[in-house]
Amino acid sequence: EEVIVPEFNSSAKELPRPLAEKCPSIIKKFISAYDAKPDFVARSPGRVNLIGEHIDYCDFSVLPLAIDFDMLCAVKVLNEKNPSITLINADPKFAQRKFDLPLDGSYVTIDPSVSDWSNYFKCGLHVAHSFLKKLAPERFASAPLAGLQVFCEGDVPTGSGLSSSAAFICAVALAVVKANMGPGYHMSKQNLMRITVVAEHYVGVNNGGMDQAASVCGEEDHALYVEFKPQLKATPFKFPQLKNHEISFVIANTLVVSNKFETAPTNYNLRVVEVTTAANVLAATYGVVLLSGKEGSSTNKGNLRDFMNVYYARYHNISTPWNGDIESGIERLTKMLVLVEESLANKKQGFSVDDVAQSLNCSREEFTRDYLTTSPVRFQVLKLYQRAKHVYSESLRVLKAVKLMTTASFTADEDFFKQFGALMNESQASCDKLYECSCPEIDKICSIALSNGSYGSRLTGAGWGGCTVHLVPGGPNGNIEKVKEALANEFYKVKYPKITDAELENAIIVSKPALGSCLYEL
Ligand code: ATP
Ligand code: MG
Repeated sequence: EEVIVPEFNSSAKELPRPLAEKCPSIIKKFISAYDAKPDFVARSPGRVNLIGEHIDYCDFSVLPLAIDFDMLCAVKVLNEKNPSITLINADPKFAQRKFDLPLDGSYVTIDPSVSDWSNYFKCGLHVAHSFLKKLAPERFASAPLAGLQVFCEGDVPTGSGLSSSAAFICAVALAVVKANMGPGYHMSKQNLMRITVVAEHYVGVNNGGMDQAASVCGEEDHALYVEFKPQLKATPFKFPQLKNHEISFVIANTLVVSNKFETAPTNYNLRVVEVTTAANVLAATYGVVLLSGKEGSSTNKGNLRDFMNVYYARYHNISTPWNGDIESGIERLTKMLVLVEESLANKKQGFSVDDVAQSLNCSREEFTRDYLTTSPVRFQVLKLYQRAKHVYSESLRVLKAVKLMTTASFTADEDFFKQFGALMNESQASCDKLYECSCPEIDKICSIALSNGSYGSRLTGAGWGGCTVHLVPGGPNGNIEKVKEALANEFYKVKYPKITDAELENAIIVSKPALGSCLYEL
């Protein structure tokens, strides 16, 4: 079933909150910049992951939501012989840009070695262009795209783990398709999500798809169950209606930036090696082949989800892989946690290279060649027990969170906050103790928030710095202001005595689950 990206116009009875609040102002700014009215505004939000950390690269589903902070692009389509695109940003930090569109219909080139905001625009432009060429080859094979005047305004804090880049790229891709196809064409969410997933490749960034899925498919009062296999899919699940409170999230940035280049060999890269090795050690222990045929290429070593599937095929005669279903997922992941205890718990201190080679029945050299040469890693031991336990238990918590949202009824608001919050707190404990991706600043922020009215506090994103997310009752009876104030006084002003009000405002944001990509036509 095709679901269309929602479109609104001035005659709509009721505009969604972000459009009603922000369109009048961006239209005004467009007019004063270009001395003409825009044709439409394309909008897409940032996102936060509620639960399900470091499991997407094992193909397990996650639970993000779109936030009230977003990117808007107001656009006027031009009818020029020599078409070009002009970009103006409401934030003077992003200087005006203008570039020509190749007349022969070829792509605009992107130079990933320069860091400029127009590159992100060009990423969205590229994937939209490629989509247009497939959609209407006769029109776009060898003729240029339409020229545009664009005015951009975004309030997603950048570089904070809330994916301002996905918000920008999704808004741009939607705008470019709209501008070139006209009012008769209605883009589906599926297509917008699918084309934008690969867009950041053009600036050298690999995403798994969660950011784009959340930005495109977000819905008010819903979280998104995002699956990666057999293909990227986002299913909205509504939060329960509470009697006296709203469901809001406080998102607090530690302002600690982990230097990815320096820390990857002991952090991110190493975790990828550890979970891959864990899957293969489990497979060897239970006498199953992780991947067969084409799948089992020299670069694809299989993952913990693959192990779950082949285990169930071999021992439970279920030959179809897990399809994302909640109940059967809960049963299977629970079983996986039993196997992890059974086969990896005897080496809680970690596996040496010799230990792993012995388990995999290969030589040290073979293991090193097959697992340790893709990206640089540094370690004494591989903590297979802890990492596998994190991945399976975290994936299980995602399913339990969805189940809680859909099946439970709550006699008191607090029952919901307690139960959902507990899953978030367990996730944080697992990230900290088992996956070791927390840091002192994250721990401190979580403990302050929990003592001041948060029911669930955890890191969100990769960890080792970055952002935290907190389940805090909102509305007049809620604790939002109390949590914000406590964080400002007990964390930010202590750790960063020189922090300005503007920086503080960017560091702590509050959002309800928000609508995803949408269009407003004038
Ligand atoms: P993360 O990827 O950790 O979730 P992020 O997406 O905010 O965080 P980046 O992926 O580094 O961070 O993307 C930030 C870049 O996106 C900016 O440097 C800029 O080029 C572009 N960008 C984001 N927001 C805007 C904006 N409002 N105006 C112009 N460019 C923007
Ligand atoms: Mg980004």
